[in-house]
Amino acid sequence: MPRVLITGCSSGIGRAMAHAFKAAGHEVWASARKPEDVAQLSALGFNAIQLDVNDQTQLAQLAERLAHNGGGLDVLINNAGYGAMGPLLDGGVAGMQQQFETNVFSVVGVTRALFDLLRRNKGLVVNIGSVSGVLVTPFAGAYCASKAAVHALSDALRMELAPLGIRVLEVQPGAIDTHFAKNATEQAEQLITEGSAWWPMREGIRARARASQDNPTPATEFAQAVLNAVQAKHPPRLLRHGNGSRALPLLAALVPSGLLQKILMKKFGLNRLT
Ligand code: NAP
Repeated sequence: MPRVLITGCSSGIGRAMAHAFKAAGHEVWASARKPEDVAQLSALGFNAIQLDVNDQTQLAQLAERLAHNGGGLDVLINNAGYGAMGPLLDGGVAGMQQQFETNVFSVVGVTRALFDLLRRNKGLVVNIGSVSGVLVTPFAGAYCASKAAVHALSDALRMELAPLGIRVLEVQPGAIDTHFAKNATEQAEQLITEGSAWWPMREGIRARARASQDNPTPATEFAQAVLNAVQAKHPPRLLRHGNGSRALPLLAALVPSGLLQKILMKKFGLNRLT
């Protein structure tokens, strides 16, 4: 039975993938950072494990715990993440650091922690990037930069791990129906203050935080697409799935960047700043 570990299974894409992989006969190790979510995952029949992806102690225990159960690891899905929305300068260096800790550094941290187990089984690393790492919008600078970084490090990992028999699949979801926008809105609201230079544009910030729920693809459908890619005889290097996941990169490639940025500024109210 192939063994898969998925980060961020308390909700959304992570939870949907846990169900899809279990239904397909995988031994699923579903991780979440809050104890109540771990208990719920356990009640659902998963090998539930507590993991804040930024917690090095938990990461070390994770590898030990998997090793104790024998065997290696066939699939690691680096899914945990959130969207730090709002004006880049209002979030500042602290906001950017937090965003990169969770969305970027943890991909290296978790993969490194499980490297020996992946190597033993000639496993597959699946990194959840985003279409936002390809088409950059305003009011999501830290998030877009973090996902662009995930794409870059996925390419580097793919080349470095190939000689060791480990493959890397990068996934770029479009809009998927999850808790993402609710969490992104909470992030954005922390930065929407009257003292901000972007206070007059606050509805644009809110619109950007909600953008992932623009006619979203169901998480179950998205999870099935990831499962199919993982189970393919030759998994692709890149999977784009979900509303906008093909159209938006095409726009980024074909529309001159000056024009595209003007369109995005208008869309998010930045043409009205005085
Ligand atoms: P979600 O429902 O908000 O799920 C995010 C998951 O990440 C939750 O389980 C959350 O746990 C977990 N998480 C956040 N920080 C963590 C940490 N430090 N340690 C461990 N877990 C942590 O949103 P989602 O849409 O499923 O997001 C999953 C991934 O898809 C993210 O990487 C996101 O960037 C990416 N994505 C989503 C969309 C979309 O439209 N939904 C589009 C492109 C990419 P808590 O419940 O404890 O916060």
